[in-house]
Amino acid sequence: MTPKTENELAQHVAAAKAPLWIKGGGTTLTGQGDVLDVSGLSGITLYEPGALTMVAQAGTPLSEIEAALDAEGQMLAFEPPRTKGATIGGAFATNASGARRVQVGAARDFLLGVRFVDGAGEIIKNGGRVMKNVTGYDLVKLMSGAHGTLGVLTEVSFKVLPKPEAQATIEVKGLTDAQATQAMSVAMGTPYDVSGAVFLVDKGTPTGRMSIRVEGFSGSVAHRSTALQNTLSAFGECSISETGPWDDLRGGAMFSDTTDALWRVAVKPSEAAQFTSELAQTLPHSHAYDWAGGRVWIGADEADVMRAEAQDSPLNDKSGFEGFHSVLQEMAAQYKGHATLMTAPMPLSVPRFQPENNVVANLSAGLRKRFDPRGILNAGLMG
Ligand SMILES: Cc1cc2nc3c(=O)[nH]c(=O)nc-3n(C[C@H](O)[C@H](O)[C@H](O)COP(=O)(O)OP(=O)(O)OC[C@H]3O[C@@H](n4cnc5c(N)ncnc54)[C@H](O)[C@@H]3O)c2cc1C
Repeated sequence: MTPKTENELAQHVAAAKAPLWIKGGGTTLTGQGDVLDVSGLSGITLYEPGALTMVAQAGTPLSEIEAALDAEGQMLAFEPPRTKGATIGGAFATNASGARRVQVGAARDFLLGVRFVDGAGEIIKNGGRVMKNVTGYDLVKLMSGAHGTLGVLTEVSFKVLPKPEAQATIEVKGLTDAQATQAMSVAMGTPYDVSGAVFLVDKGTPTGRMSIRVEGFSGSVAHRSTALQNTLSAFGECSISETGPWDDLRGGAMFSDTTDALWRVAVKPSEAAQFTSELAQTLPHSHAYDWAGGRVWIGADEADVMRAEAQDSPLNDKSGFEGFHSVLQEMAAQYKGHATLMTAPMPLSVPRFQPENNVVANLSAGLRKRFDPRGILNAGLMG
């Protein structure tokens, strides 16, 4: 079903007798249930460049939003992924945030207001209609990152920012994982307002390229990039360029080779290198670091999985990508982090999200009961 209005969507939800799977652009893994396609709710409702705000229906393609902003020299500062067909509602529902998060925060930090339909088919507006018994919740923060389990976003209003006048990328090649995380930590600790810190491993080598970004007025960028070059030259030869891997990253190009499955893992930046080194002993994989090591991308293809299976340690009595996933989540938990499956070559019977500890799981279940008492929105996705 592809409703064209919020009222129509609310009626569909209210009348639903079986679980619904909410689809924005449908660029990520799908779940179970009748597809409720939000792409019919499309279009920019209000754009006030002077006030740095925009309001758009949730199914509006990100490309349309970015084109409108571009025409005014503005941007979505949280750099959502540029996967073809992705929607603004999908970006906020998943809190999908790019490299600039280290400087400006996540998608949810830019969300000002939401309209959504809850699991009972009620239309809720943040700051407008107040839902019975949930008046204490910050609905904007709750809805961003809930992955559609608490409601179907129909409209979002959000902050936008002017595009920076200039940017520079400082790069050091030939670094090991440990050297890269150390160098990124040093860069983040400087007063030069870094807006991106990534490390991409070169195919077939144990080393890679660290990229550090600064943005702003031309003079300031020139000064800060030279200062960073001086600081980071302690780690190797440093070059400065006007471009970097930033656009490619938004398109999903974290690896120089292709992978069949992709996970994002959150760990402490200072432990990222230790984590991937330990992981490699059990699970051959490709990896890249974003957010100065706070977000680790793990990629694996069939050959990686077969090599993992051939090793002595069994994949938790499972096989293939499911076994790989299970061991990866176990190891992420040991690092007090979490691993989320993003893409897979086939449907996997695994919890995509890291299982929550009892305290958080009880809180999450309580929230879902309030917003979706029948348990029909993206059922089972997050517990
Ligand atoms: C570099 C890169 C980084 C990424 N980072 C992340 C990340 O941090 N987190 C992440 O989850 N994904 C991430 N992705 C995957 C994906 O690109 C984003 O989730 C994307 O924004 C999804 O948009 P979509 O419109 O295709 O949503 P879909 O693929 O259609 O849906 C994604 C999820 O959001 C829900 N959803 C979609 N629209 C709505 C709505 N209107 N109301 C309520 N729920 C809705 C869906 O049910 C589903 O659970 C990343 C991808 C790339 C390439």
